[in-house]
Amino acid sequence: MFMGHYGPAVWDTQRGKGDVLVPLWVGFLAVQFIDIIFAIFAIIGLEGDVRMAGGAPLFTIPYSHSLITALGWSFIGGLLFKGFRPTSGMRGFWVVFGLVFSHWVLDLIVHRPDLPLWPGSAIELGLGFWNYPILAFVLEMGLLSAALLYWMRVTTGPRSSVIGLSALFLFMGVLQVLFILVPGTEVQNGTFDATLGPQGVALGLSMLFTYGILCFSIAWIEKRRAPRVS
Ligand SMILES: [Zn+2]
Repeated sequence: MFMGHYGPAVWDTQRGKGDVLVPLWVGFLAVQFIDIIFAIFAIIGLEGDVRMAGGAPLFTIPYSHSLITALGWSFIGGLLFKGFRPTSGMRGFWVVFGLVFSHWVLDLIVHRPDLPLWPGSAIELGLGFWNYPILAFVLEMGLLSAALLYWMRVTTGPRSSVIGLSALFLFMGVLQVLFILVPGTEVQNGTFDATLGPQGVALGLSMLFTYGILCFSIAWIEKRRAPRVS
C-alpha cells in the first residue's frame, strides 16, 4: 500500500476533547515507519530486490516487512514516541505501536504474497489486491479521503489550511497514480518491466524524500488548525 497507509494516521481518540495525543505529522511518520526502515535497507543494499512471479513483481523485504519484525518495529516506534514525549504515557506507546503496525495489516491486503512470517520463513503472505489496480486505487484513495475528511471535521482552521489540505490530497493522488496505478495496470497488461523502476539507492532516497515532503506539508497545515472542542 502507498497513500492508503495515511488513513489510520488520524486515529487519535483525544481529538475534539482537548489536547492532541499523537500529532498528525507524527502519525504520518508512524504509519510509514516500516517503509522508512525498508528505504534505509534498500539504500544500504540489504533489501529491495524484485523477483518476478507469474509476470507480477514480488519484493524481497524480510527484515522490514515480516510479521515478527513488523511487531518489533512497532514496539521500537512506540518506545521512540514515549521517549520524546514521556507525558504521553503507555497510551501514547500503544497508539503509536498500533499506527506503525497498521502498515503491515494494510500491506497484507494489497501486496502479492511477499510478506514472510519472519525473515527466512517459507510462508509468505499477501492477499494481492494490487492485481486489481483500479479497485486497489479506490481502496487506497478511499482510506485517505475518509481520514482527511474526518480530520477536517474534528479540527478547525482558516481557509488557507483547507486549500493546503486539498492541494496535498491532490498531490498524494498523483503520486498514487504514478507509482501504484500505472505499474499495476502494466502488470495486468503484461507490459510491466521491473528493471525500468528505480533500484536500491534511488528507490530508497525517493521514498525518504516523498515521505519527508508529505510529513512537512501536513505539519505546515496542522500548525494552522486546532482541535474543535465540542
Ligand atoms: Zn510497506
